[in-house]
Amino acid sequence: MSATVMDGKALAAKVKSEVRCKVESLSKKPGLAVILVGDDPASRVYVNGKKRDCAECGIYSEEYALPAEISQEELLDLIDVLNGREDIDGILVQLPLPKHLDERQVLLAIRPDKDVDCFHPFNVGQLMIGEDGFLPCTPAGVMRMLDEYSIDPAGKHCVIVGRSNIVGKPQAMLMLRKNATVTVCHTKTADLKAECLRADILVAAAGRAGLITGDMLKEGAMVVDVAINRNEQGRLCGDVVYEAAVERASFITPVPGGVGPMTRAMLMENTLYAAKLHGKW
Ligand code: NAP
Repeated sequence: MSATVMDGKALAAKVKSEVRCKVESLSKKPGLAVILVGDDPASRVYVNGKKRDCAECGIYSEEYALPAEISQEELLDLIDVLNGREDIDGILVQLPLPKHLDERQVLLAIRPDKDVDCFHPFNVGQLMIGEDGFLPCTPAGVMRMLDEYSIDPAGKHCVIVGRSNIVGKPQAMLMLRKNATVTVCHTKTADLKAECLRADILVAAAGRAGLITGDMLKEGAMVVDVAINRNEQGRLCGDVVYEAAVERASFITPVPGGVGPMTRAMLMENTLYAAKLHGKW
């Protein structure tokens, strides 16, 4: 068997063009503020990508590139000002923050109705109890991709490798919502291979290149590789050994070009949703 490759890039372009269509119909444009502290090159690349996406979708964006030595108070003051601005619907603080800043306090300061990353405990709670609200971008992008390829998680066994607050845990919640039976694995999981072999849908989000080998996959499994790693040659890769997996899986996401573009597209959807919360449509 050779798997169908799920094209995250093409789907992300479709989602963004849908967002653009909606934005064009609004008299007040959605607005996103992106805060970058310090000069981490990877964070700079992500922020540039988000600004480009906003421009593509017709969303107004503002970037705050702050020096690494900024104080907690100064950062909180900026968030306070952005919280109060009507033209700014979403506020995103690019993580990680420099060590001297209290990340949790910073994320708590963002008004929940402007929390387009869905990191605020209020929004995490809404997700947990199945209420409407923001959806975390990466797990939501995974669900959208499954939907696009008519993969219904109901009744399927979904195994998620990774339990971070950003990916693994919210992914489990979204899979549960869609009636999958969910197993979440981590570094203390006793037999990772045995767990993975039970997966109809495998979501790999460990951040370990080569962790999921072909013999850990059930024949016909649907494989979603969230991870973004660099292999020994310095090339981008996921957690899954792609060449082996593509022969066993029924569906698979590539890295790059799979979940990554979908994450960015979902941020645009969340910004549009924030504008709805603020009465712009
Ligand atoms: P993280 O916070 O480092 O969490 C990694 C999780 O994987 C942890 O729960 C860890 O278990 C588990 N894990 C690590 N090694 C493992 C192993 N050998 N066996 C089983 N479980 C293992 O990372 P994250 O922020 O969730 O990100 C995960 C990956 O996704 C990274 O590669 C990141 O770059 C990528 N990512 C991609 C996107 C995208 O848009 N495509 C978005 C976000 C993240 P413990 O809890 O026991 O430590």
